[in-house]
Amino acid sequence: MKITSIKSETDDTKIFRFKYTTDERMDFKAGQFVMVHDIQVEKDGEKKKVNRAYSIASSPGKDFIDLVIKEEHPGLTSSYWVNKVKKDQEFEIKGPYGKFMYTEDVKGDVVLLGAGSGIAPLRGIAQFITEKKLPVKVFLVFSNKTSRDIICKSEFLDMEENNDNFEVHFTVTREPEDSDWEGRRGRIDYEFLEDSIGFLENKVFYVCGSKEFGTGVIDLLKEHGVSEEKIKKEIY
Ligand SMILES: Cc1cc2nc3c(=O)[nH]c(=O)nc-3n(C[C@H](O)[C@H](O)[C@H](O)COP(=O)(O)OP(=O)(O)OC[C@H]3O[C@@H](n4cnc5c(N)ncnc54)[C@H](O)[C@@H]3O)c2cc1C
Repeated sequence: MKITSIKSETDDTKIFRFKYTTDERMDFKAGQFVMVHDIQVEKDGEKKKVNRAYSIASSPGKDFIDLVIKEEHPGLTSSYWVNKVKKDQEFEIKGPYGKFMYTEDVKGDVVLLGAGSGIAPLRGIAQFITEKKLPVKVFLVFSNKTSRDIICKSEFLDMEENNDNFEVHFTVTREPEDSDWEGRRGRIDYEFLEDSIGFLENKVFYVCGSKEFGTGVIDLLKEHGVSEEKIKKEIY
């Protein structure tokens, strides 16, 4: 697939839009991931090819897919994406893969719990439900280090403005004390979750982020009675 646009989203994150180069479309479900093969990176002065997994950050049925890639420090491939990759470059992309997916037969309202680049598949799910006008309520609870790190902030605020069934709740964990951020600060705890989404019953939870974030949030859900089959997770 070929990159047709690159958008700088935050200081360390870009959104890469890939269009299909053949008539063959990937038939994927919202939330799944792809493998990008033979990414040419340089390590210790030596060129090498690596493969990496990336969640599809857009909804199915379009003539493109978006990947949201955040630079890790250190991060061999993510640094290459964010600092070197250019429009019109082509990549071998295979997929879809994974069981982290939302389909129309999932029952109940949807809670998307993400941190950092973990927003990628959640964005795809939120877009899918919104575009299809499905009769389910979607709550996005999105944690970041600082307010500058919030990926697709204006997109989610627009989604909330234009869709009565969608709500977004941001929280930041390491915001400088003297910043003008007026939103919530601190990790996701039960009080914040309850304030954001109300009752935990009759909802299905999609959790995506680092191992630390995922474990913490899943433990919290389980402690408050959410059963395992209501929780779907993707850990990066
Ligand atoms: C299913 C799935 C979906 C994913 N989707 C996305 C996505 O949508 N967006 C996204 O940005 N990422 C996503 N990832 C993560 C992605 O695949 C890569 O793992 C990520 O880009 C980091 O790769 P890298 O080559 O930059 O890091 P690497 O260089 O391979 O390093 C891997 C990790 O180890 C750490 N590390 C490396 N060297 C050191 C060291 N010396 N000391 C301490 N720590 C070190 C790095 O900081 C990094 O966290 C996904 C992963 C999976 C499994």
